[in-house]
Amino acid sequence: MSKKSPRPKPKYKRIVLKISGEALREAGSKDNISPQIVRSIAQQIKEVSDLGVEIAVVVGGGNIWRGLPASNRGMERSTADYMGMLATVINGMALQSQLEELGVTTRTQTAIRMDNVAEPFIRRRAIRHLEQGRVVIFVAGTGNPFFSTDTTAALRASEIGAQVILKATKVDGIYSADPNKDPKAVKYQTISYVEALTKRLQVMDSTAFSLCMDNKVPIIVFDMMNKNNIKNAVLGKKVGTLVS
Ligand code: UDP
Repeated sequence: MSKKSPRPKPKYKRIVLKISGEALREAGSKDNISPQIVRSIAQQIKEVSDLGVEIAVVVGGGNIWRGLPASNRGMERSTADYMGMLATVINGMALQSQLEELGVTTRTQTAIRMDNVAEPFIRRRAIRHLEQGRVVIFVAGTGNPFFSTDTTAALRASEIGAQVILKATKVDGIYSADPNKDPKAVKYQTISYVEALTKRLQVMDSTAFSLCMDNKVPIIVFDMMNKNNIKNAVLGKKVGTLVS
């Protein structure tokens, strides 16, 4: 009789996964959202959820709309930012739909009320969903202009007591310089908040970064093109760069 290997033990019980809007677009495509990419992300999330990890996802909106530079488009920054927040709702709906296709129970919570589309963000309810094994998708950013979805990830992670933020990007970690321009650029396996600050390494925007630092939320920056990275990061394997 073949023995089933035991389920690997995750290092983190509750995580925030930050997915930028750009990550949902296929390079060179004119479509803002690639169904294949969204499906692949959904599959990766399912695998991690199946390990018993509580997952809250914060999605960006940069593939559809970014607030800055608002003045170029003849509009106020706040208006442009609200448009950006609405863009994140579109992405969140795409992700929710693919997750549910795969049989993952999800709840989307929005920071800007739109009752026909998603639940309002209610911290205690979000925590309850997570405890019930539902994947929670946070959309509409913080609900405030002049912020970013990285800040949203930092804020929500602090609010729900997540043990780590996994920041999925298109580079495989944090480098001493731009690896595309400087052949001597080295990748950090781990780095402290202070070192990242003094070396001016752009991990997140400054508001997001200081929230993480003040509330001691570690950040793992990693490349999401490698399909095992989210899982490996959750299992505590060396993936990307850990800021702590
Ligand atoms: N945004 C905002 N407040 C927030 C979060 C987002 O005003 O709390 C707006 C902002 O204009 C931003 C846009 O939404 O440019 C899309 O979010 P972001 O640029 O963070 O998305 P990403 O780069 O992760 O795709």
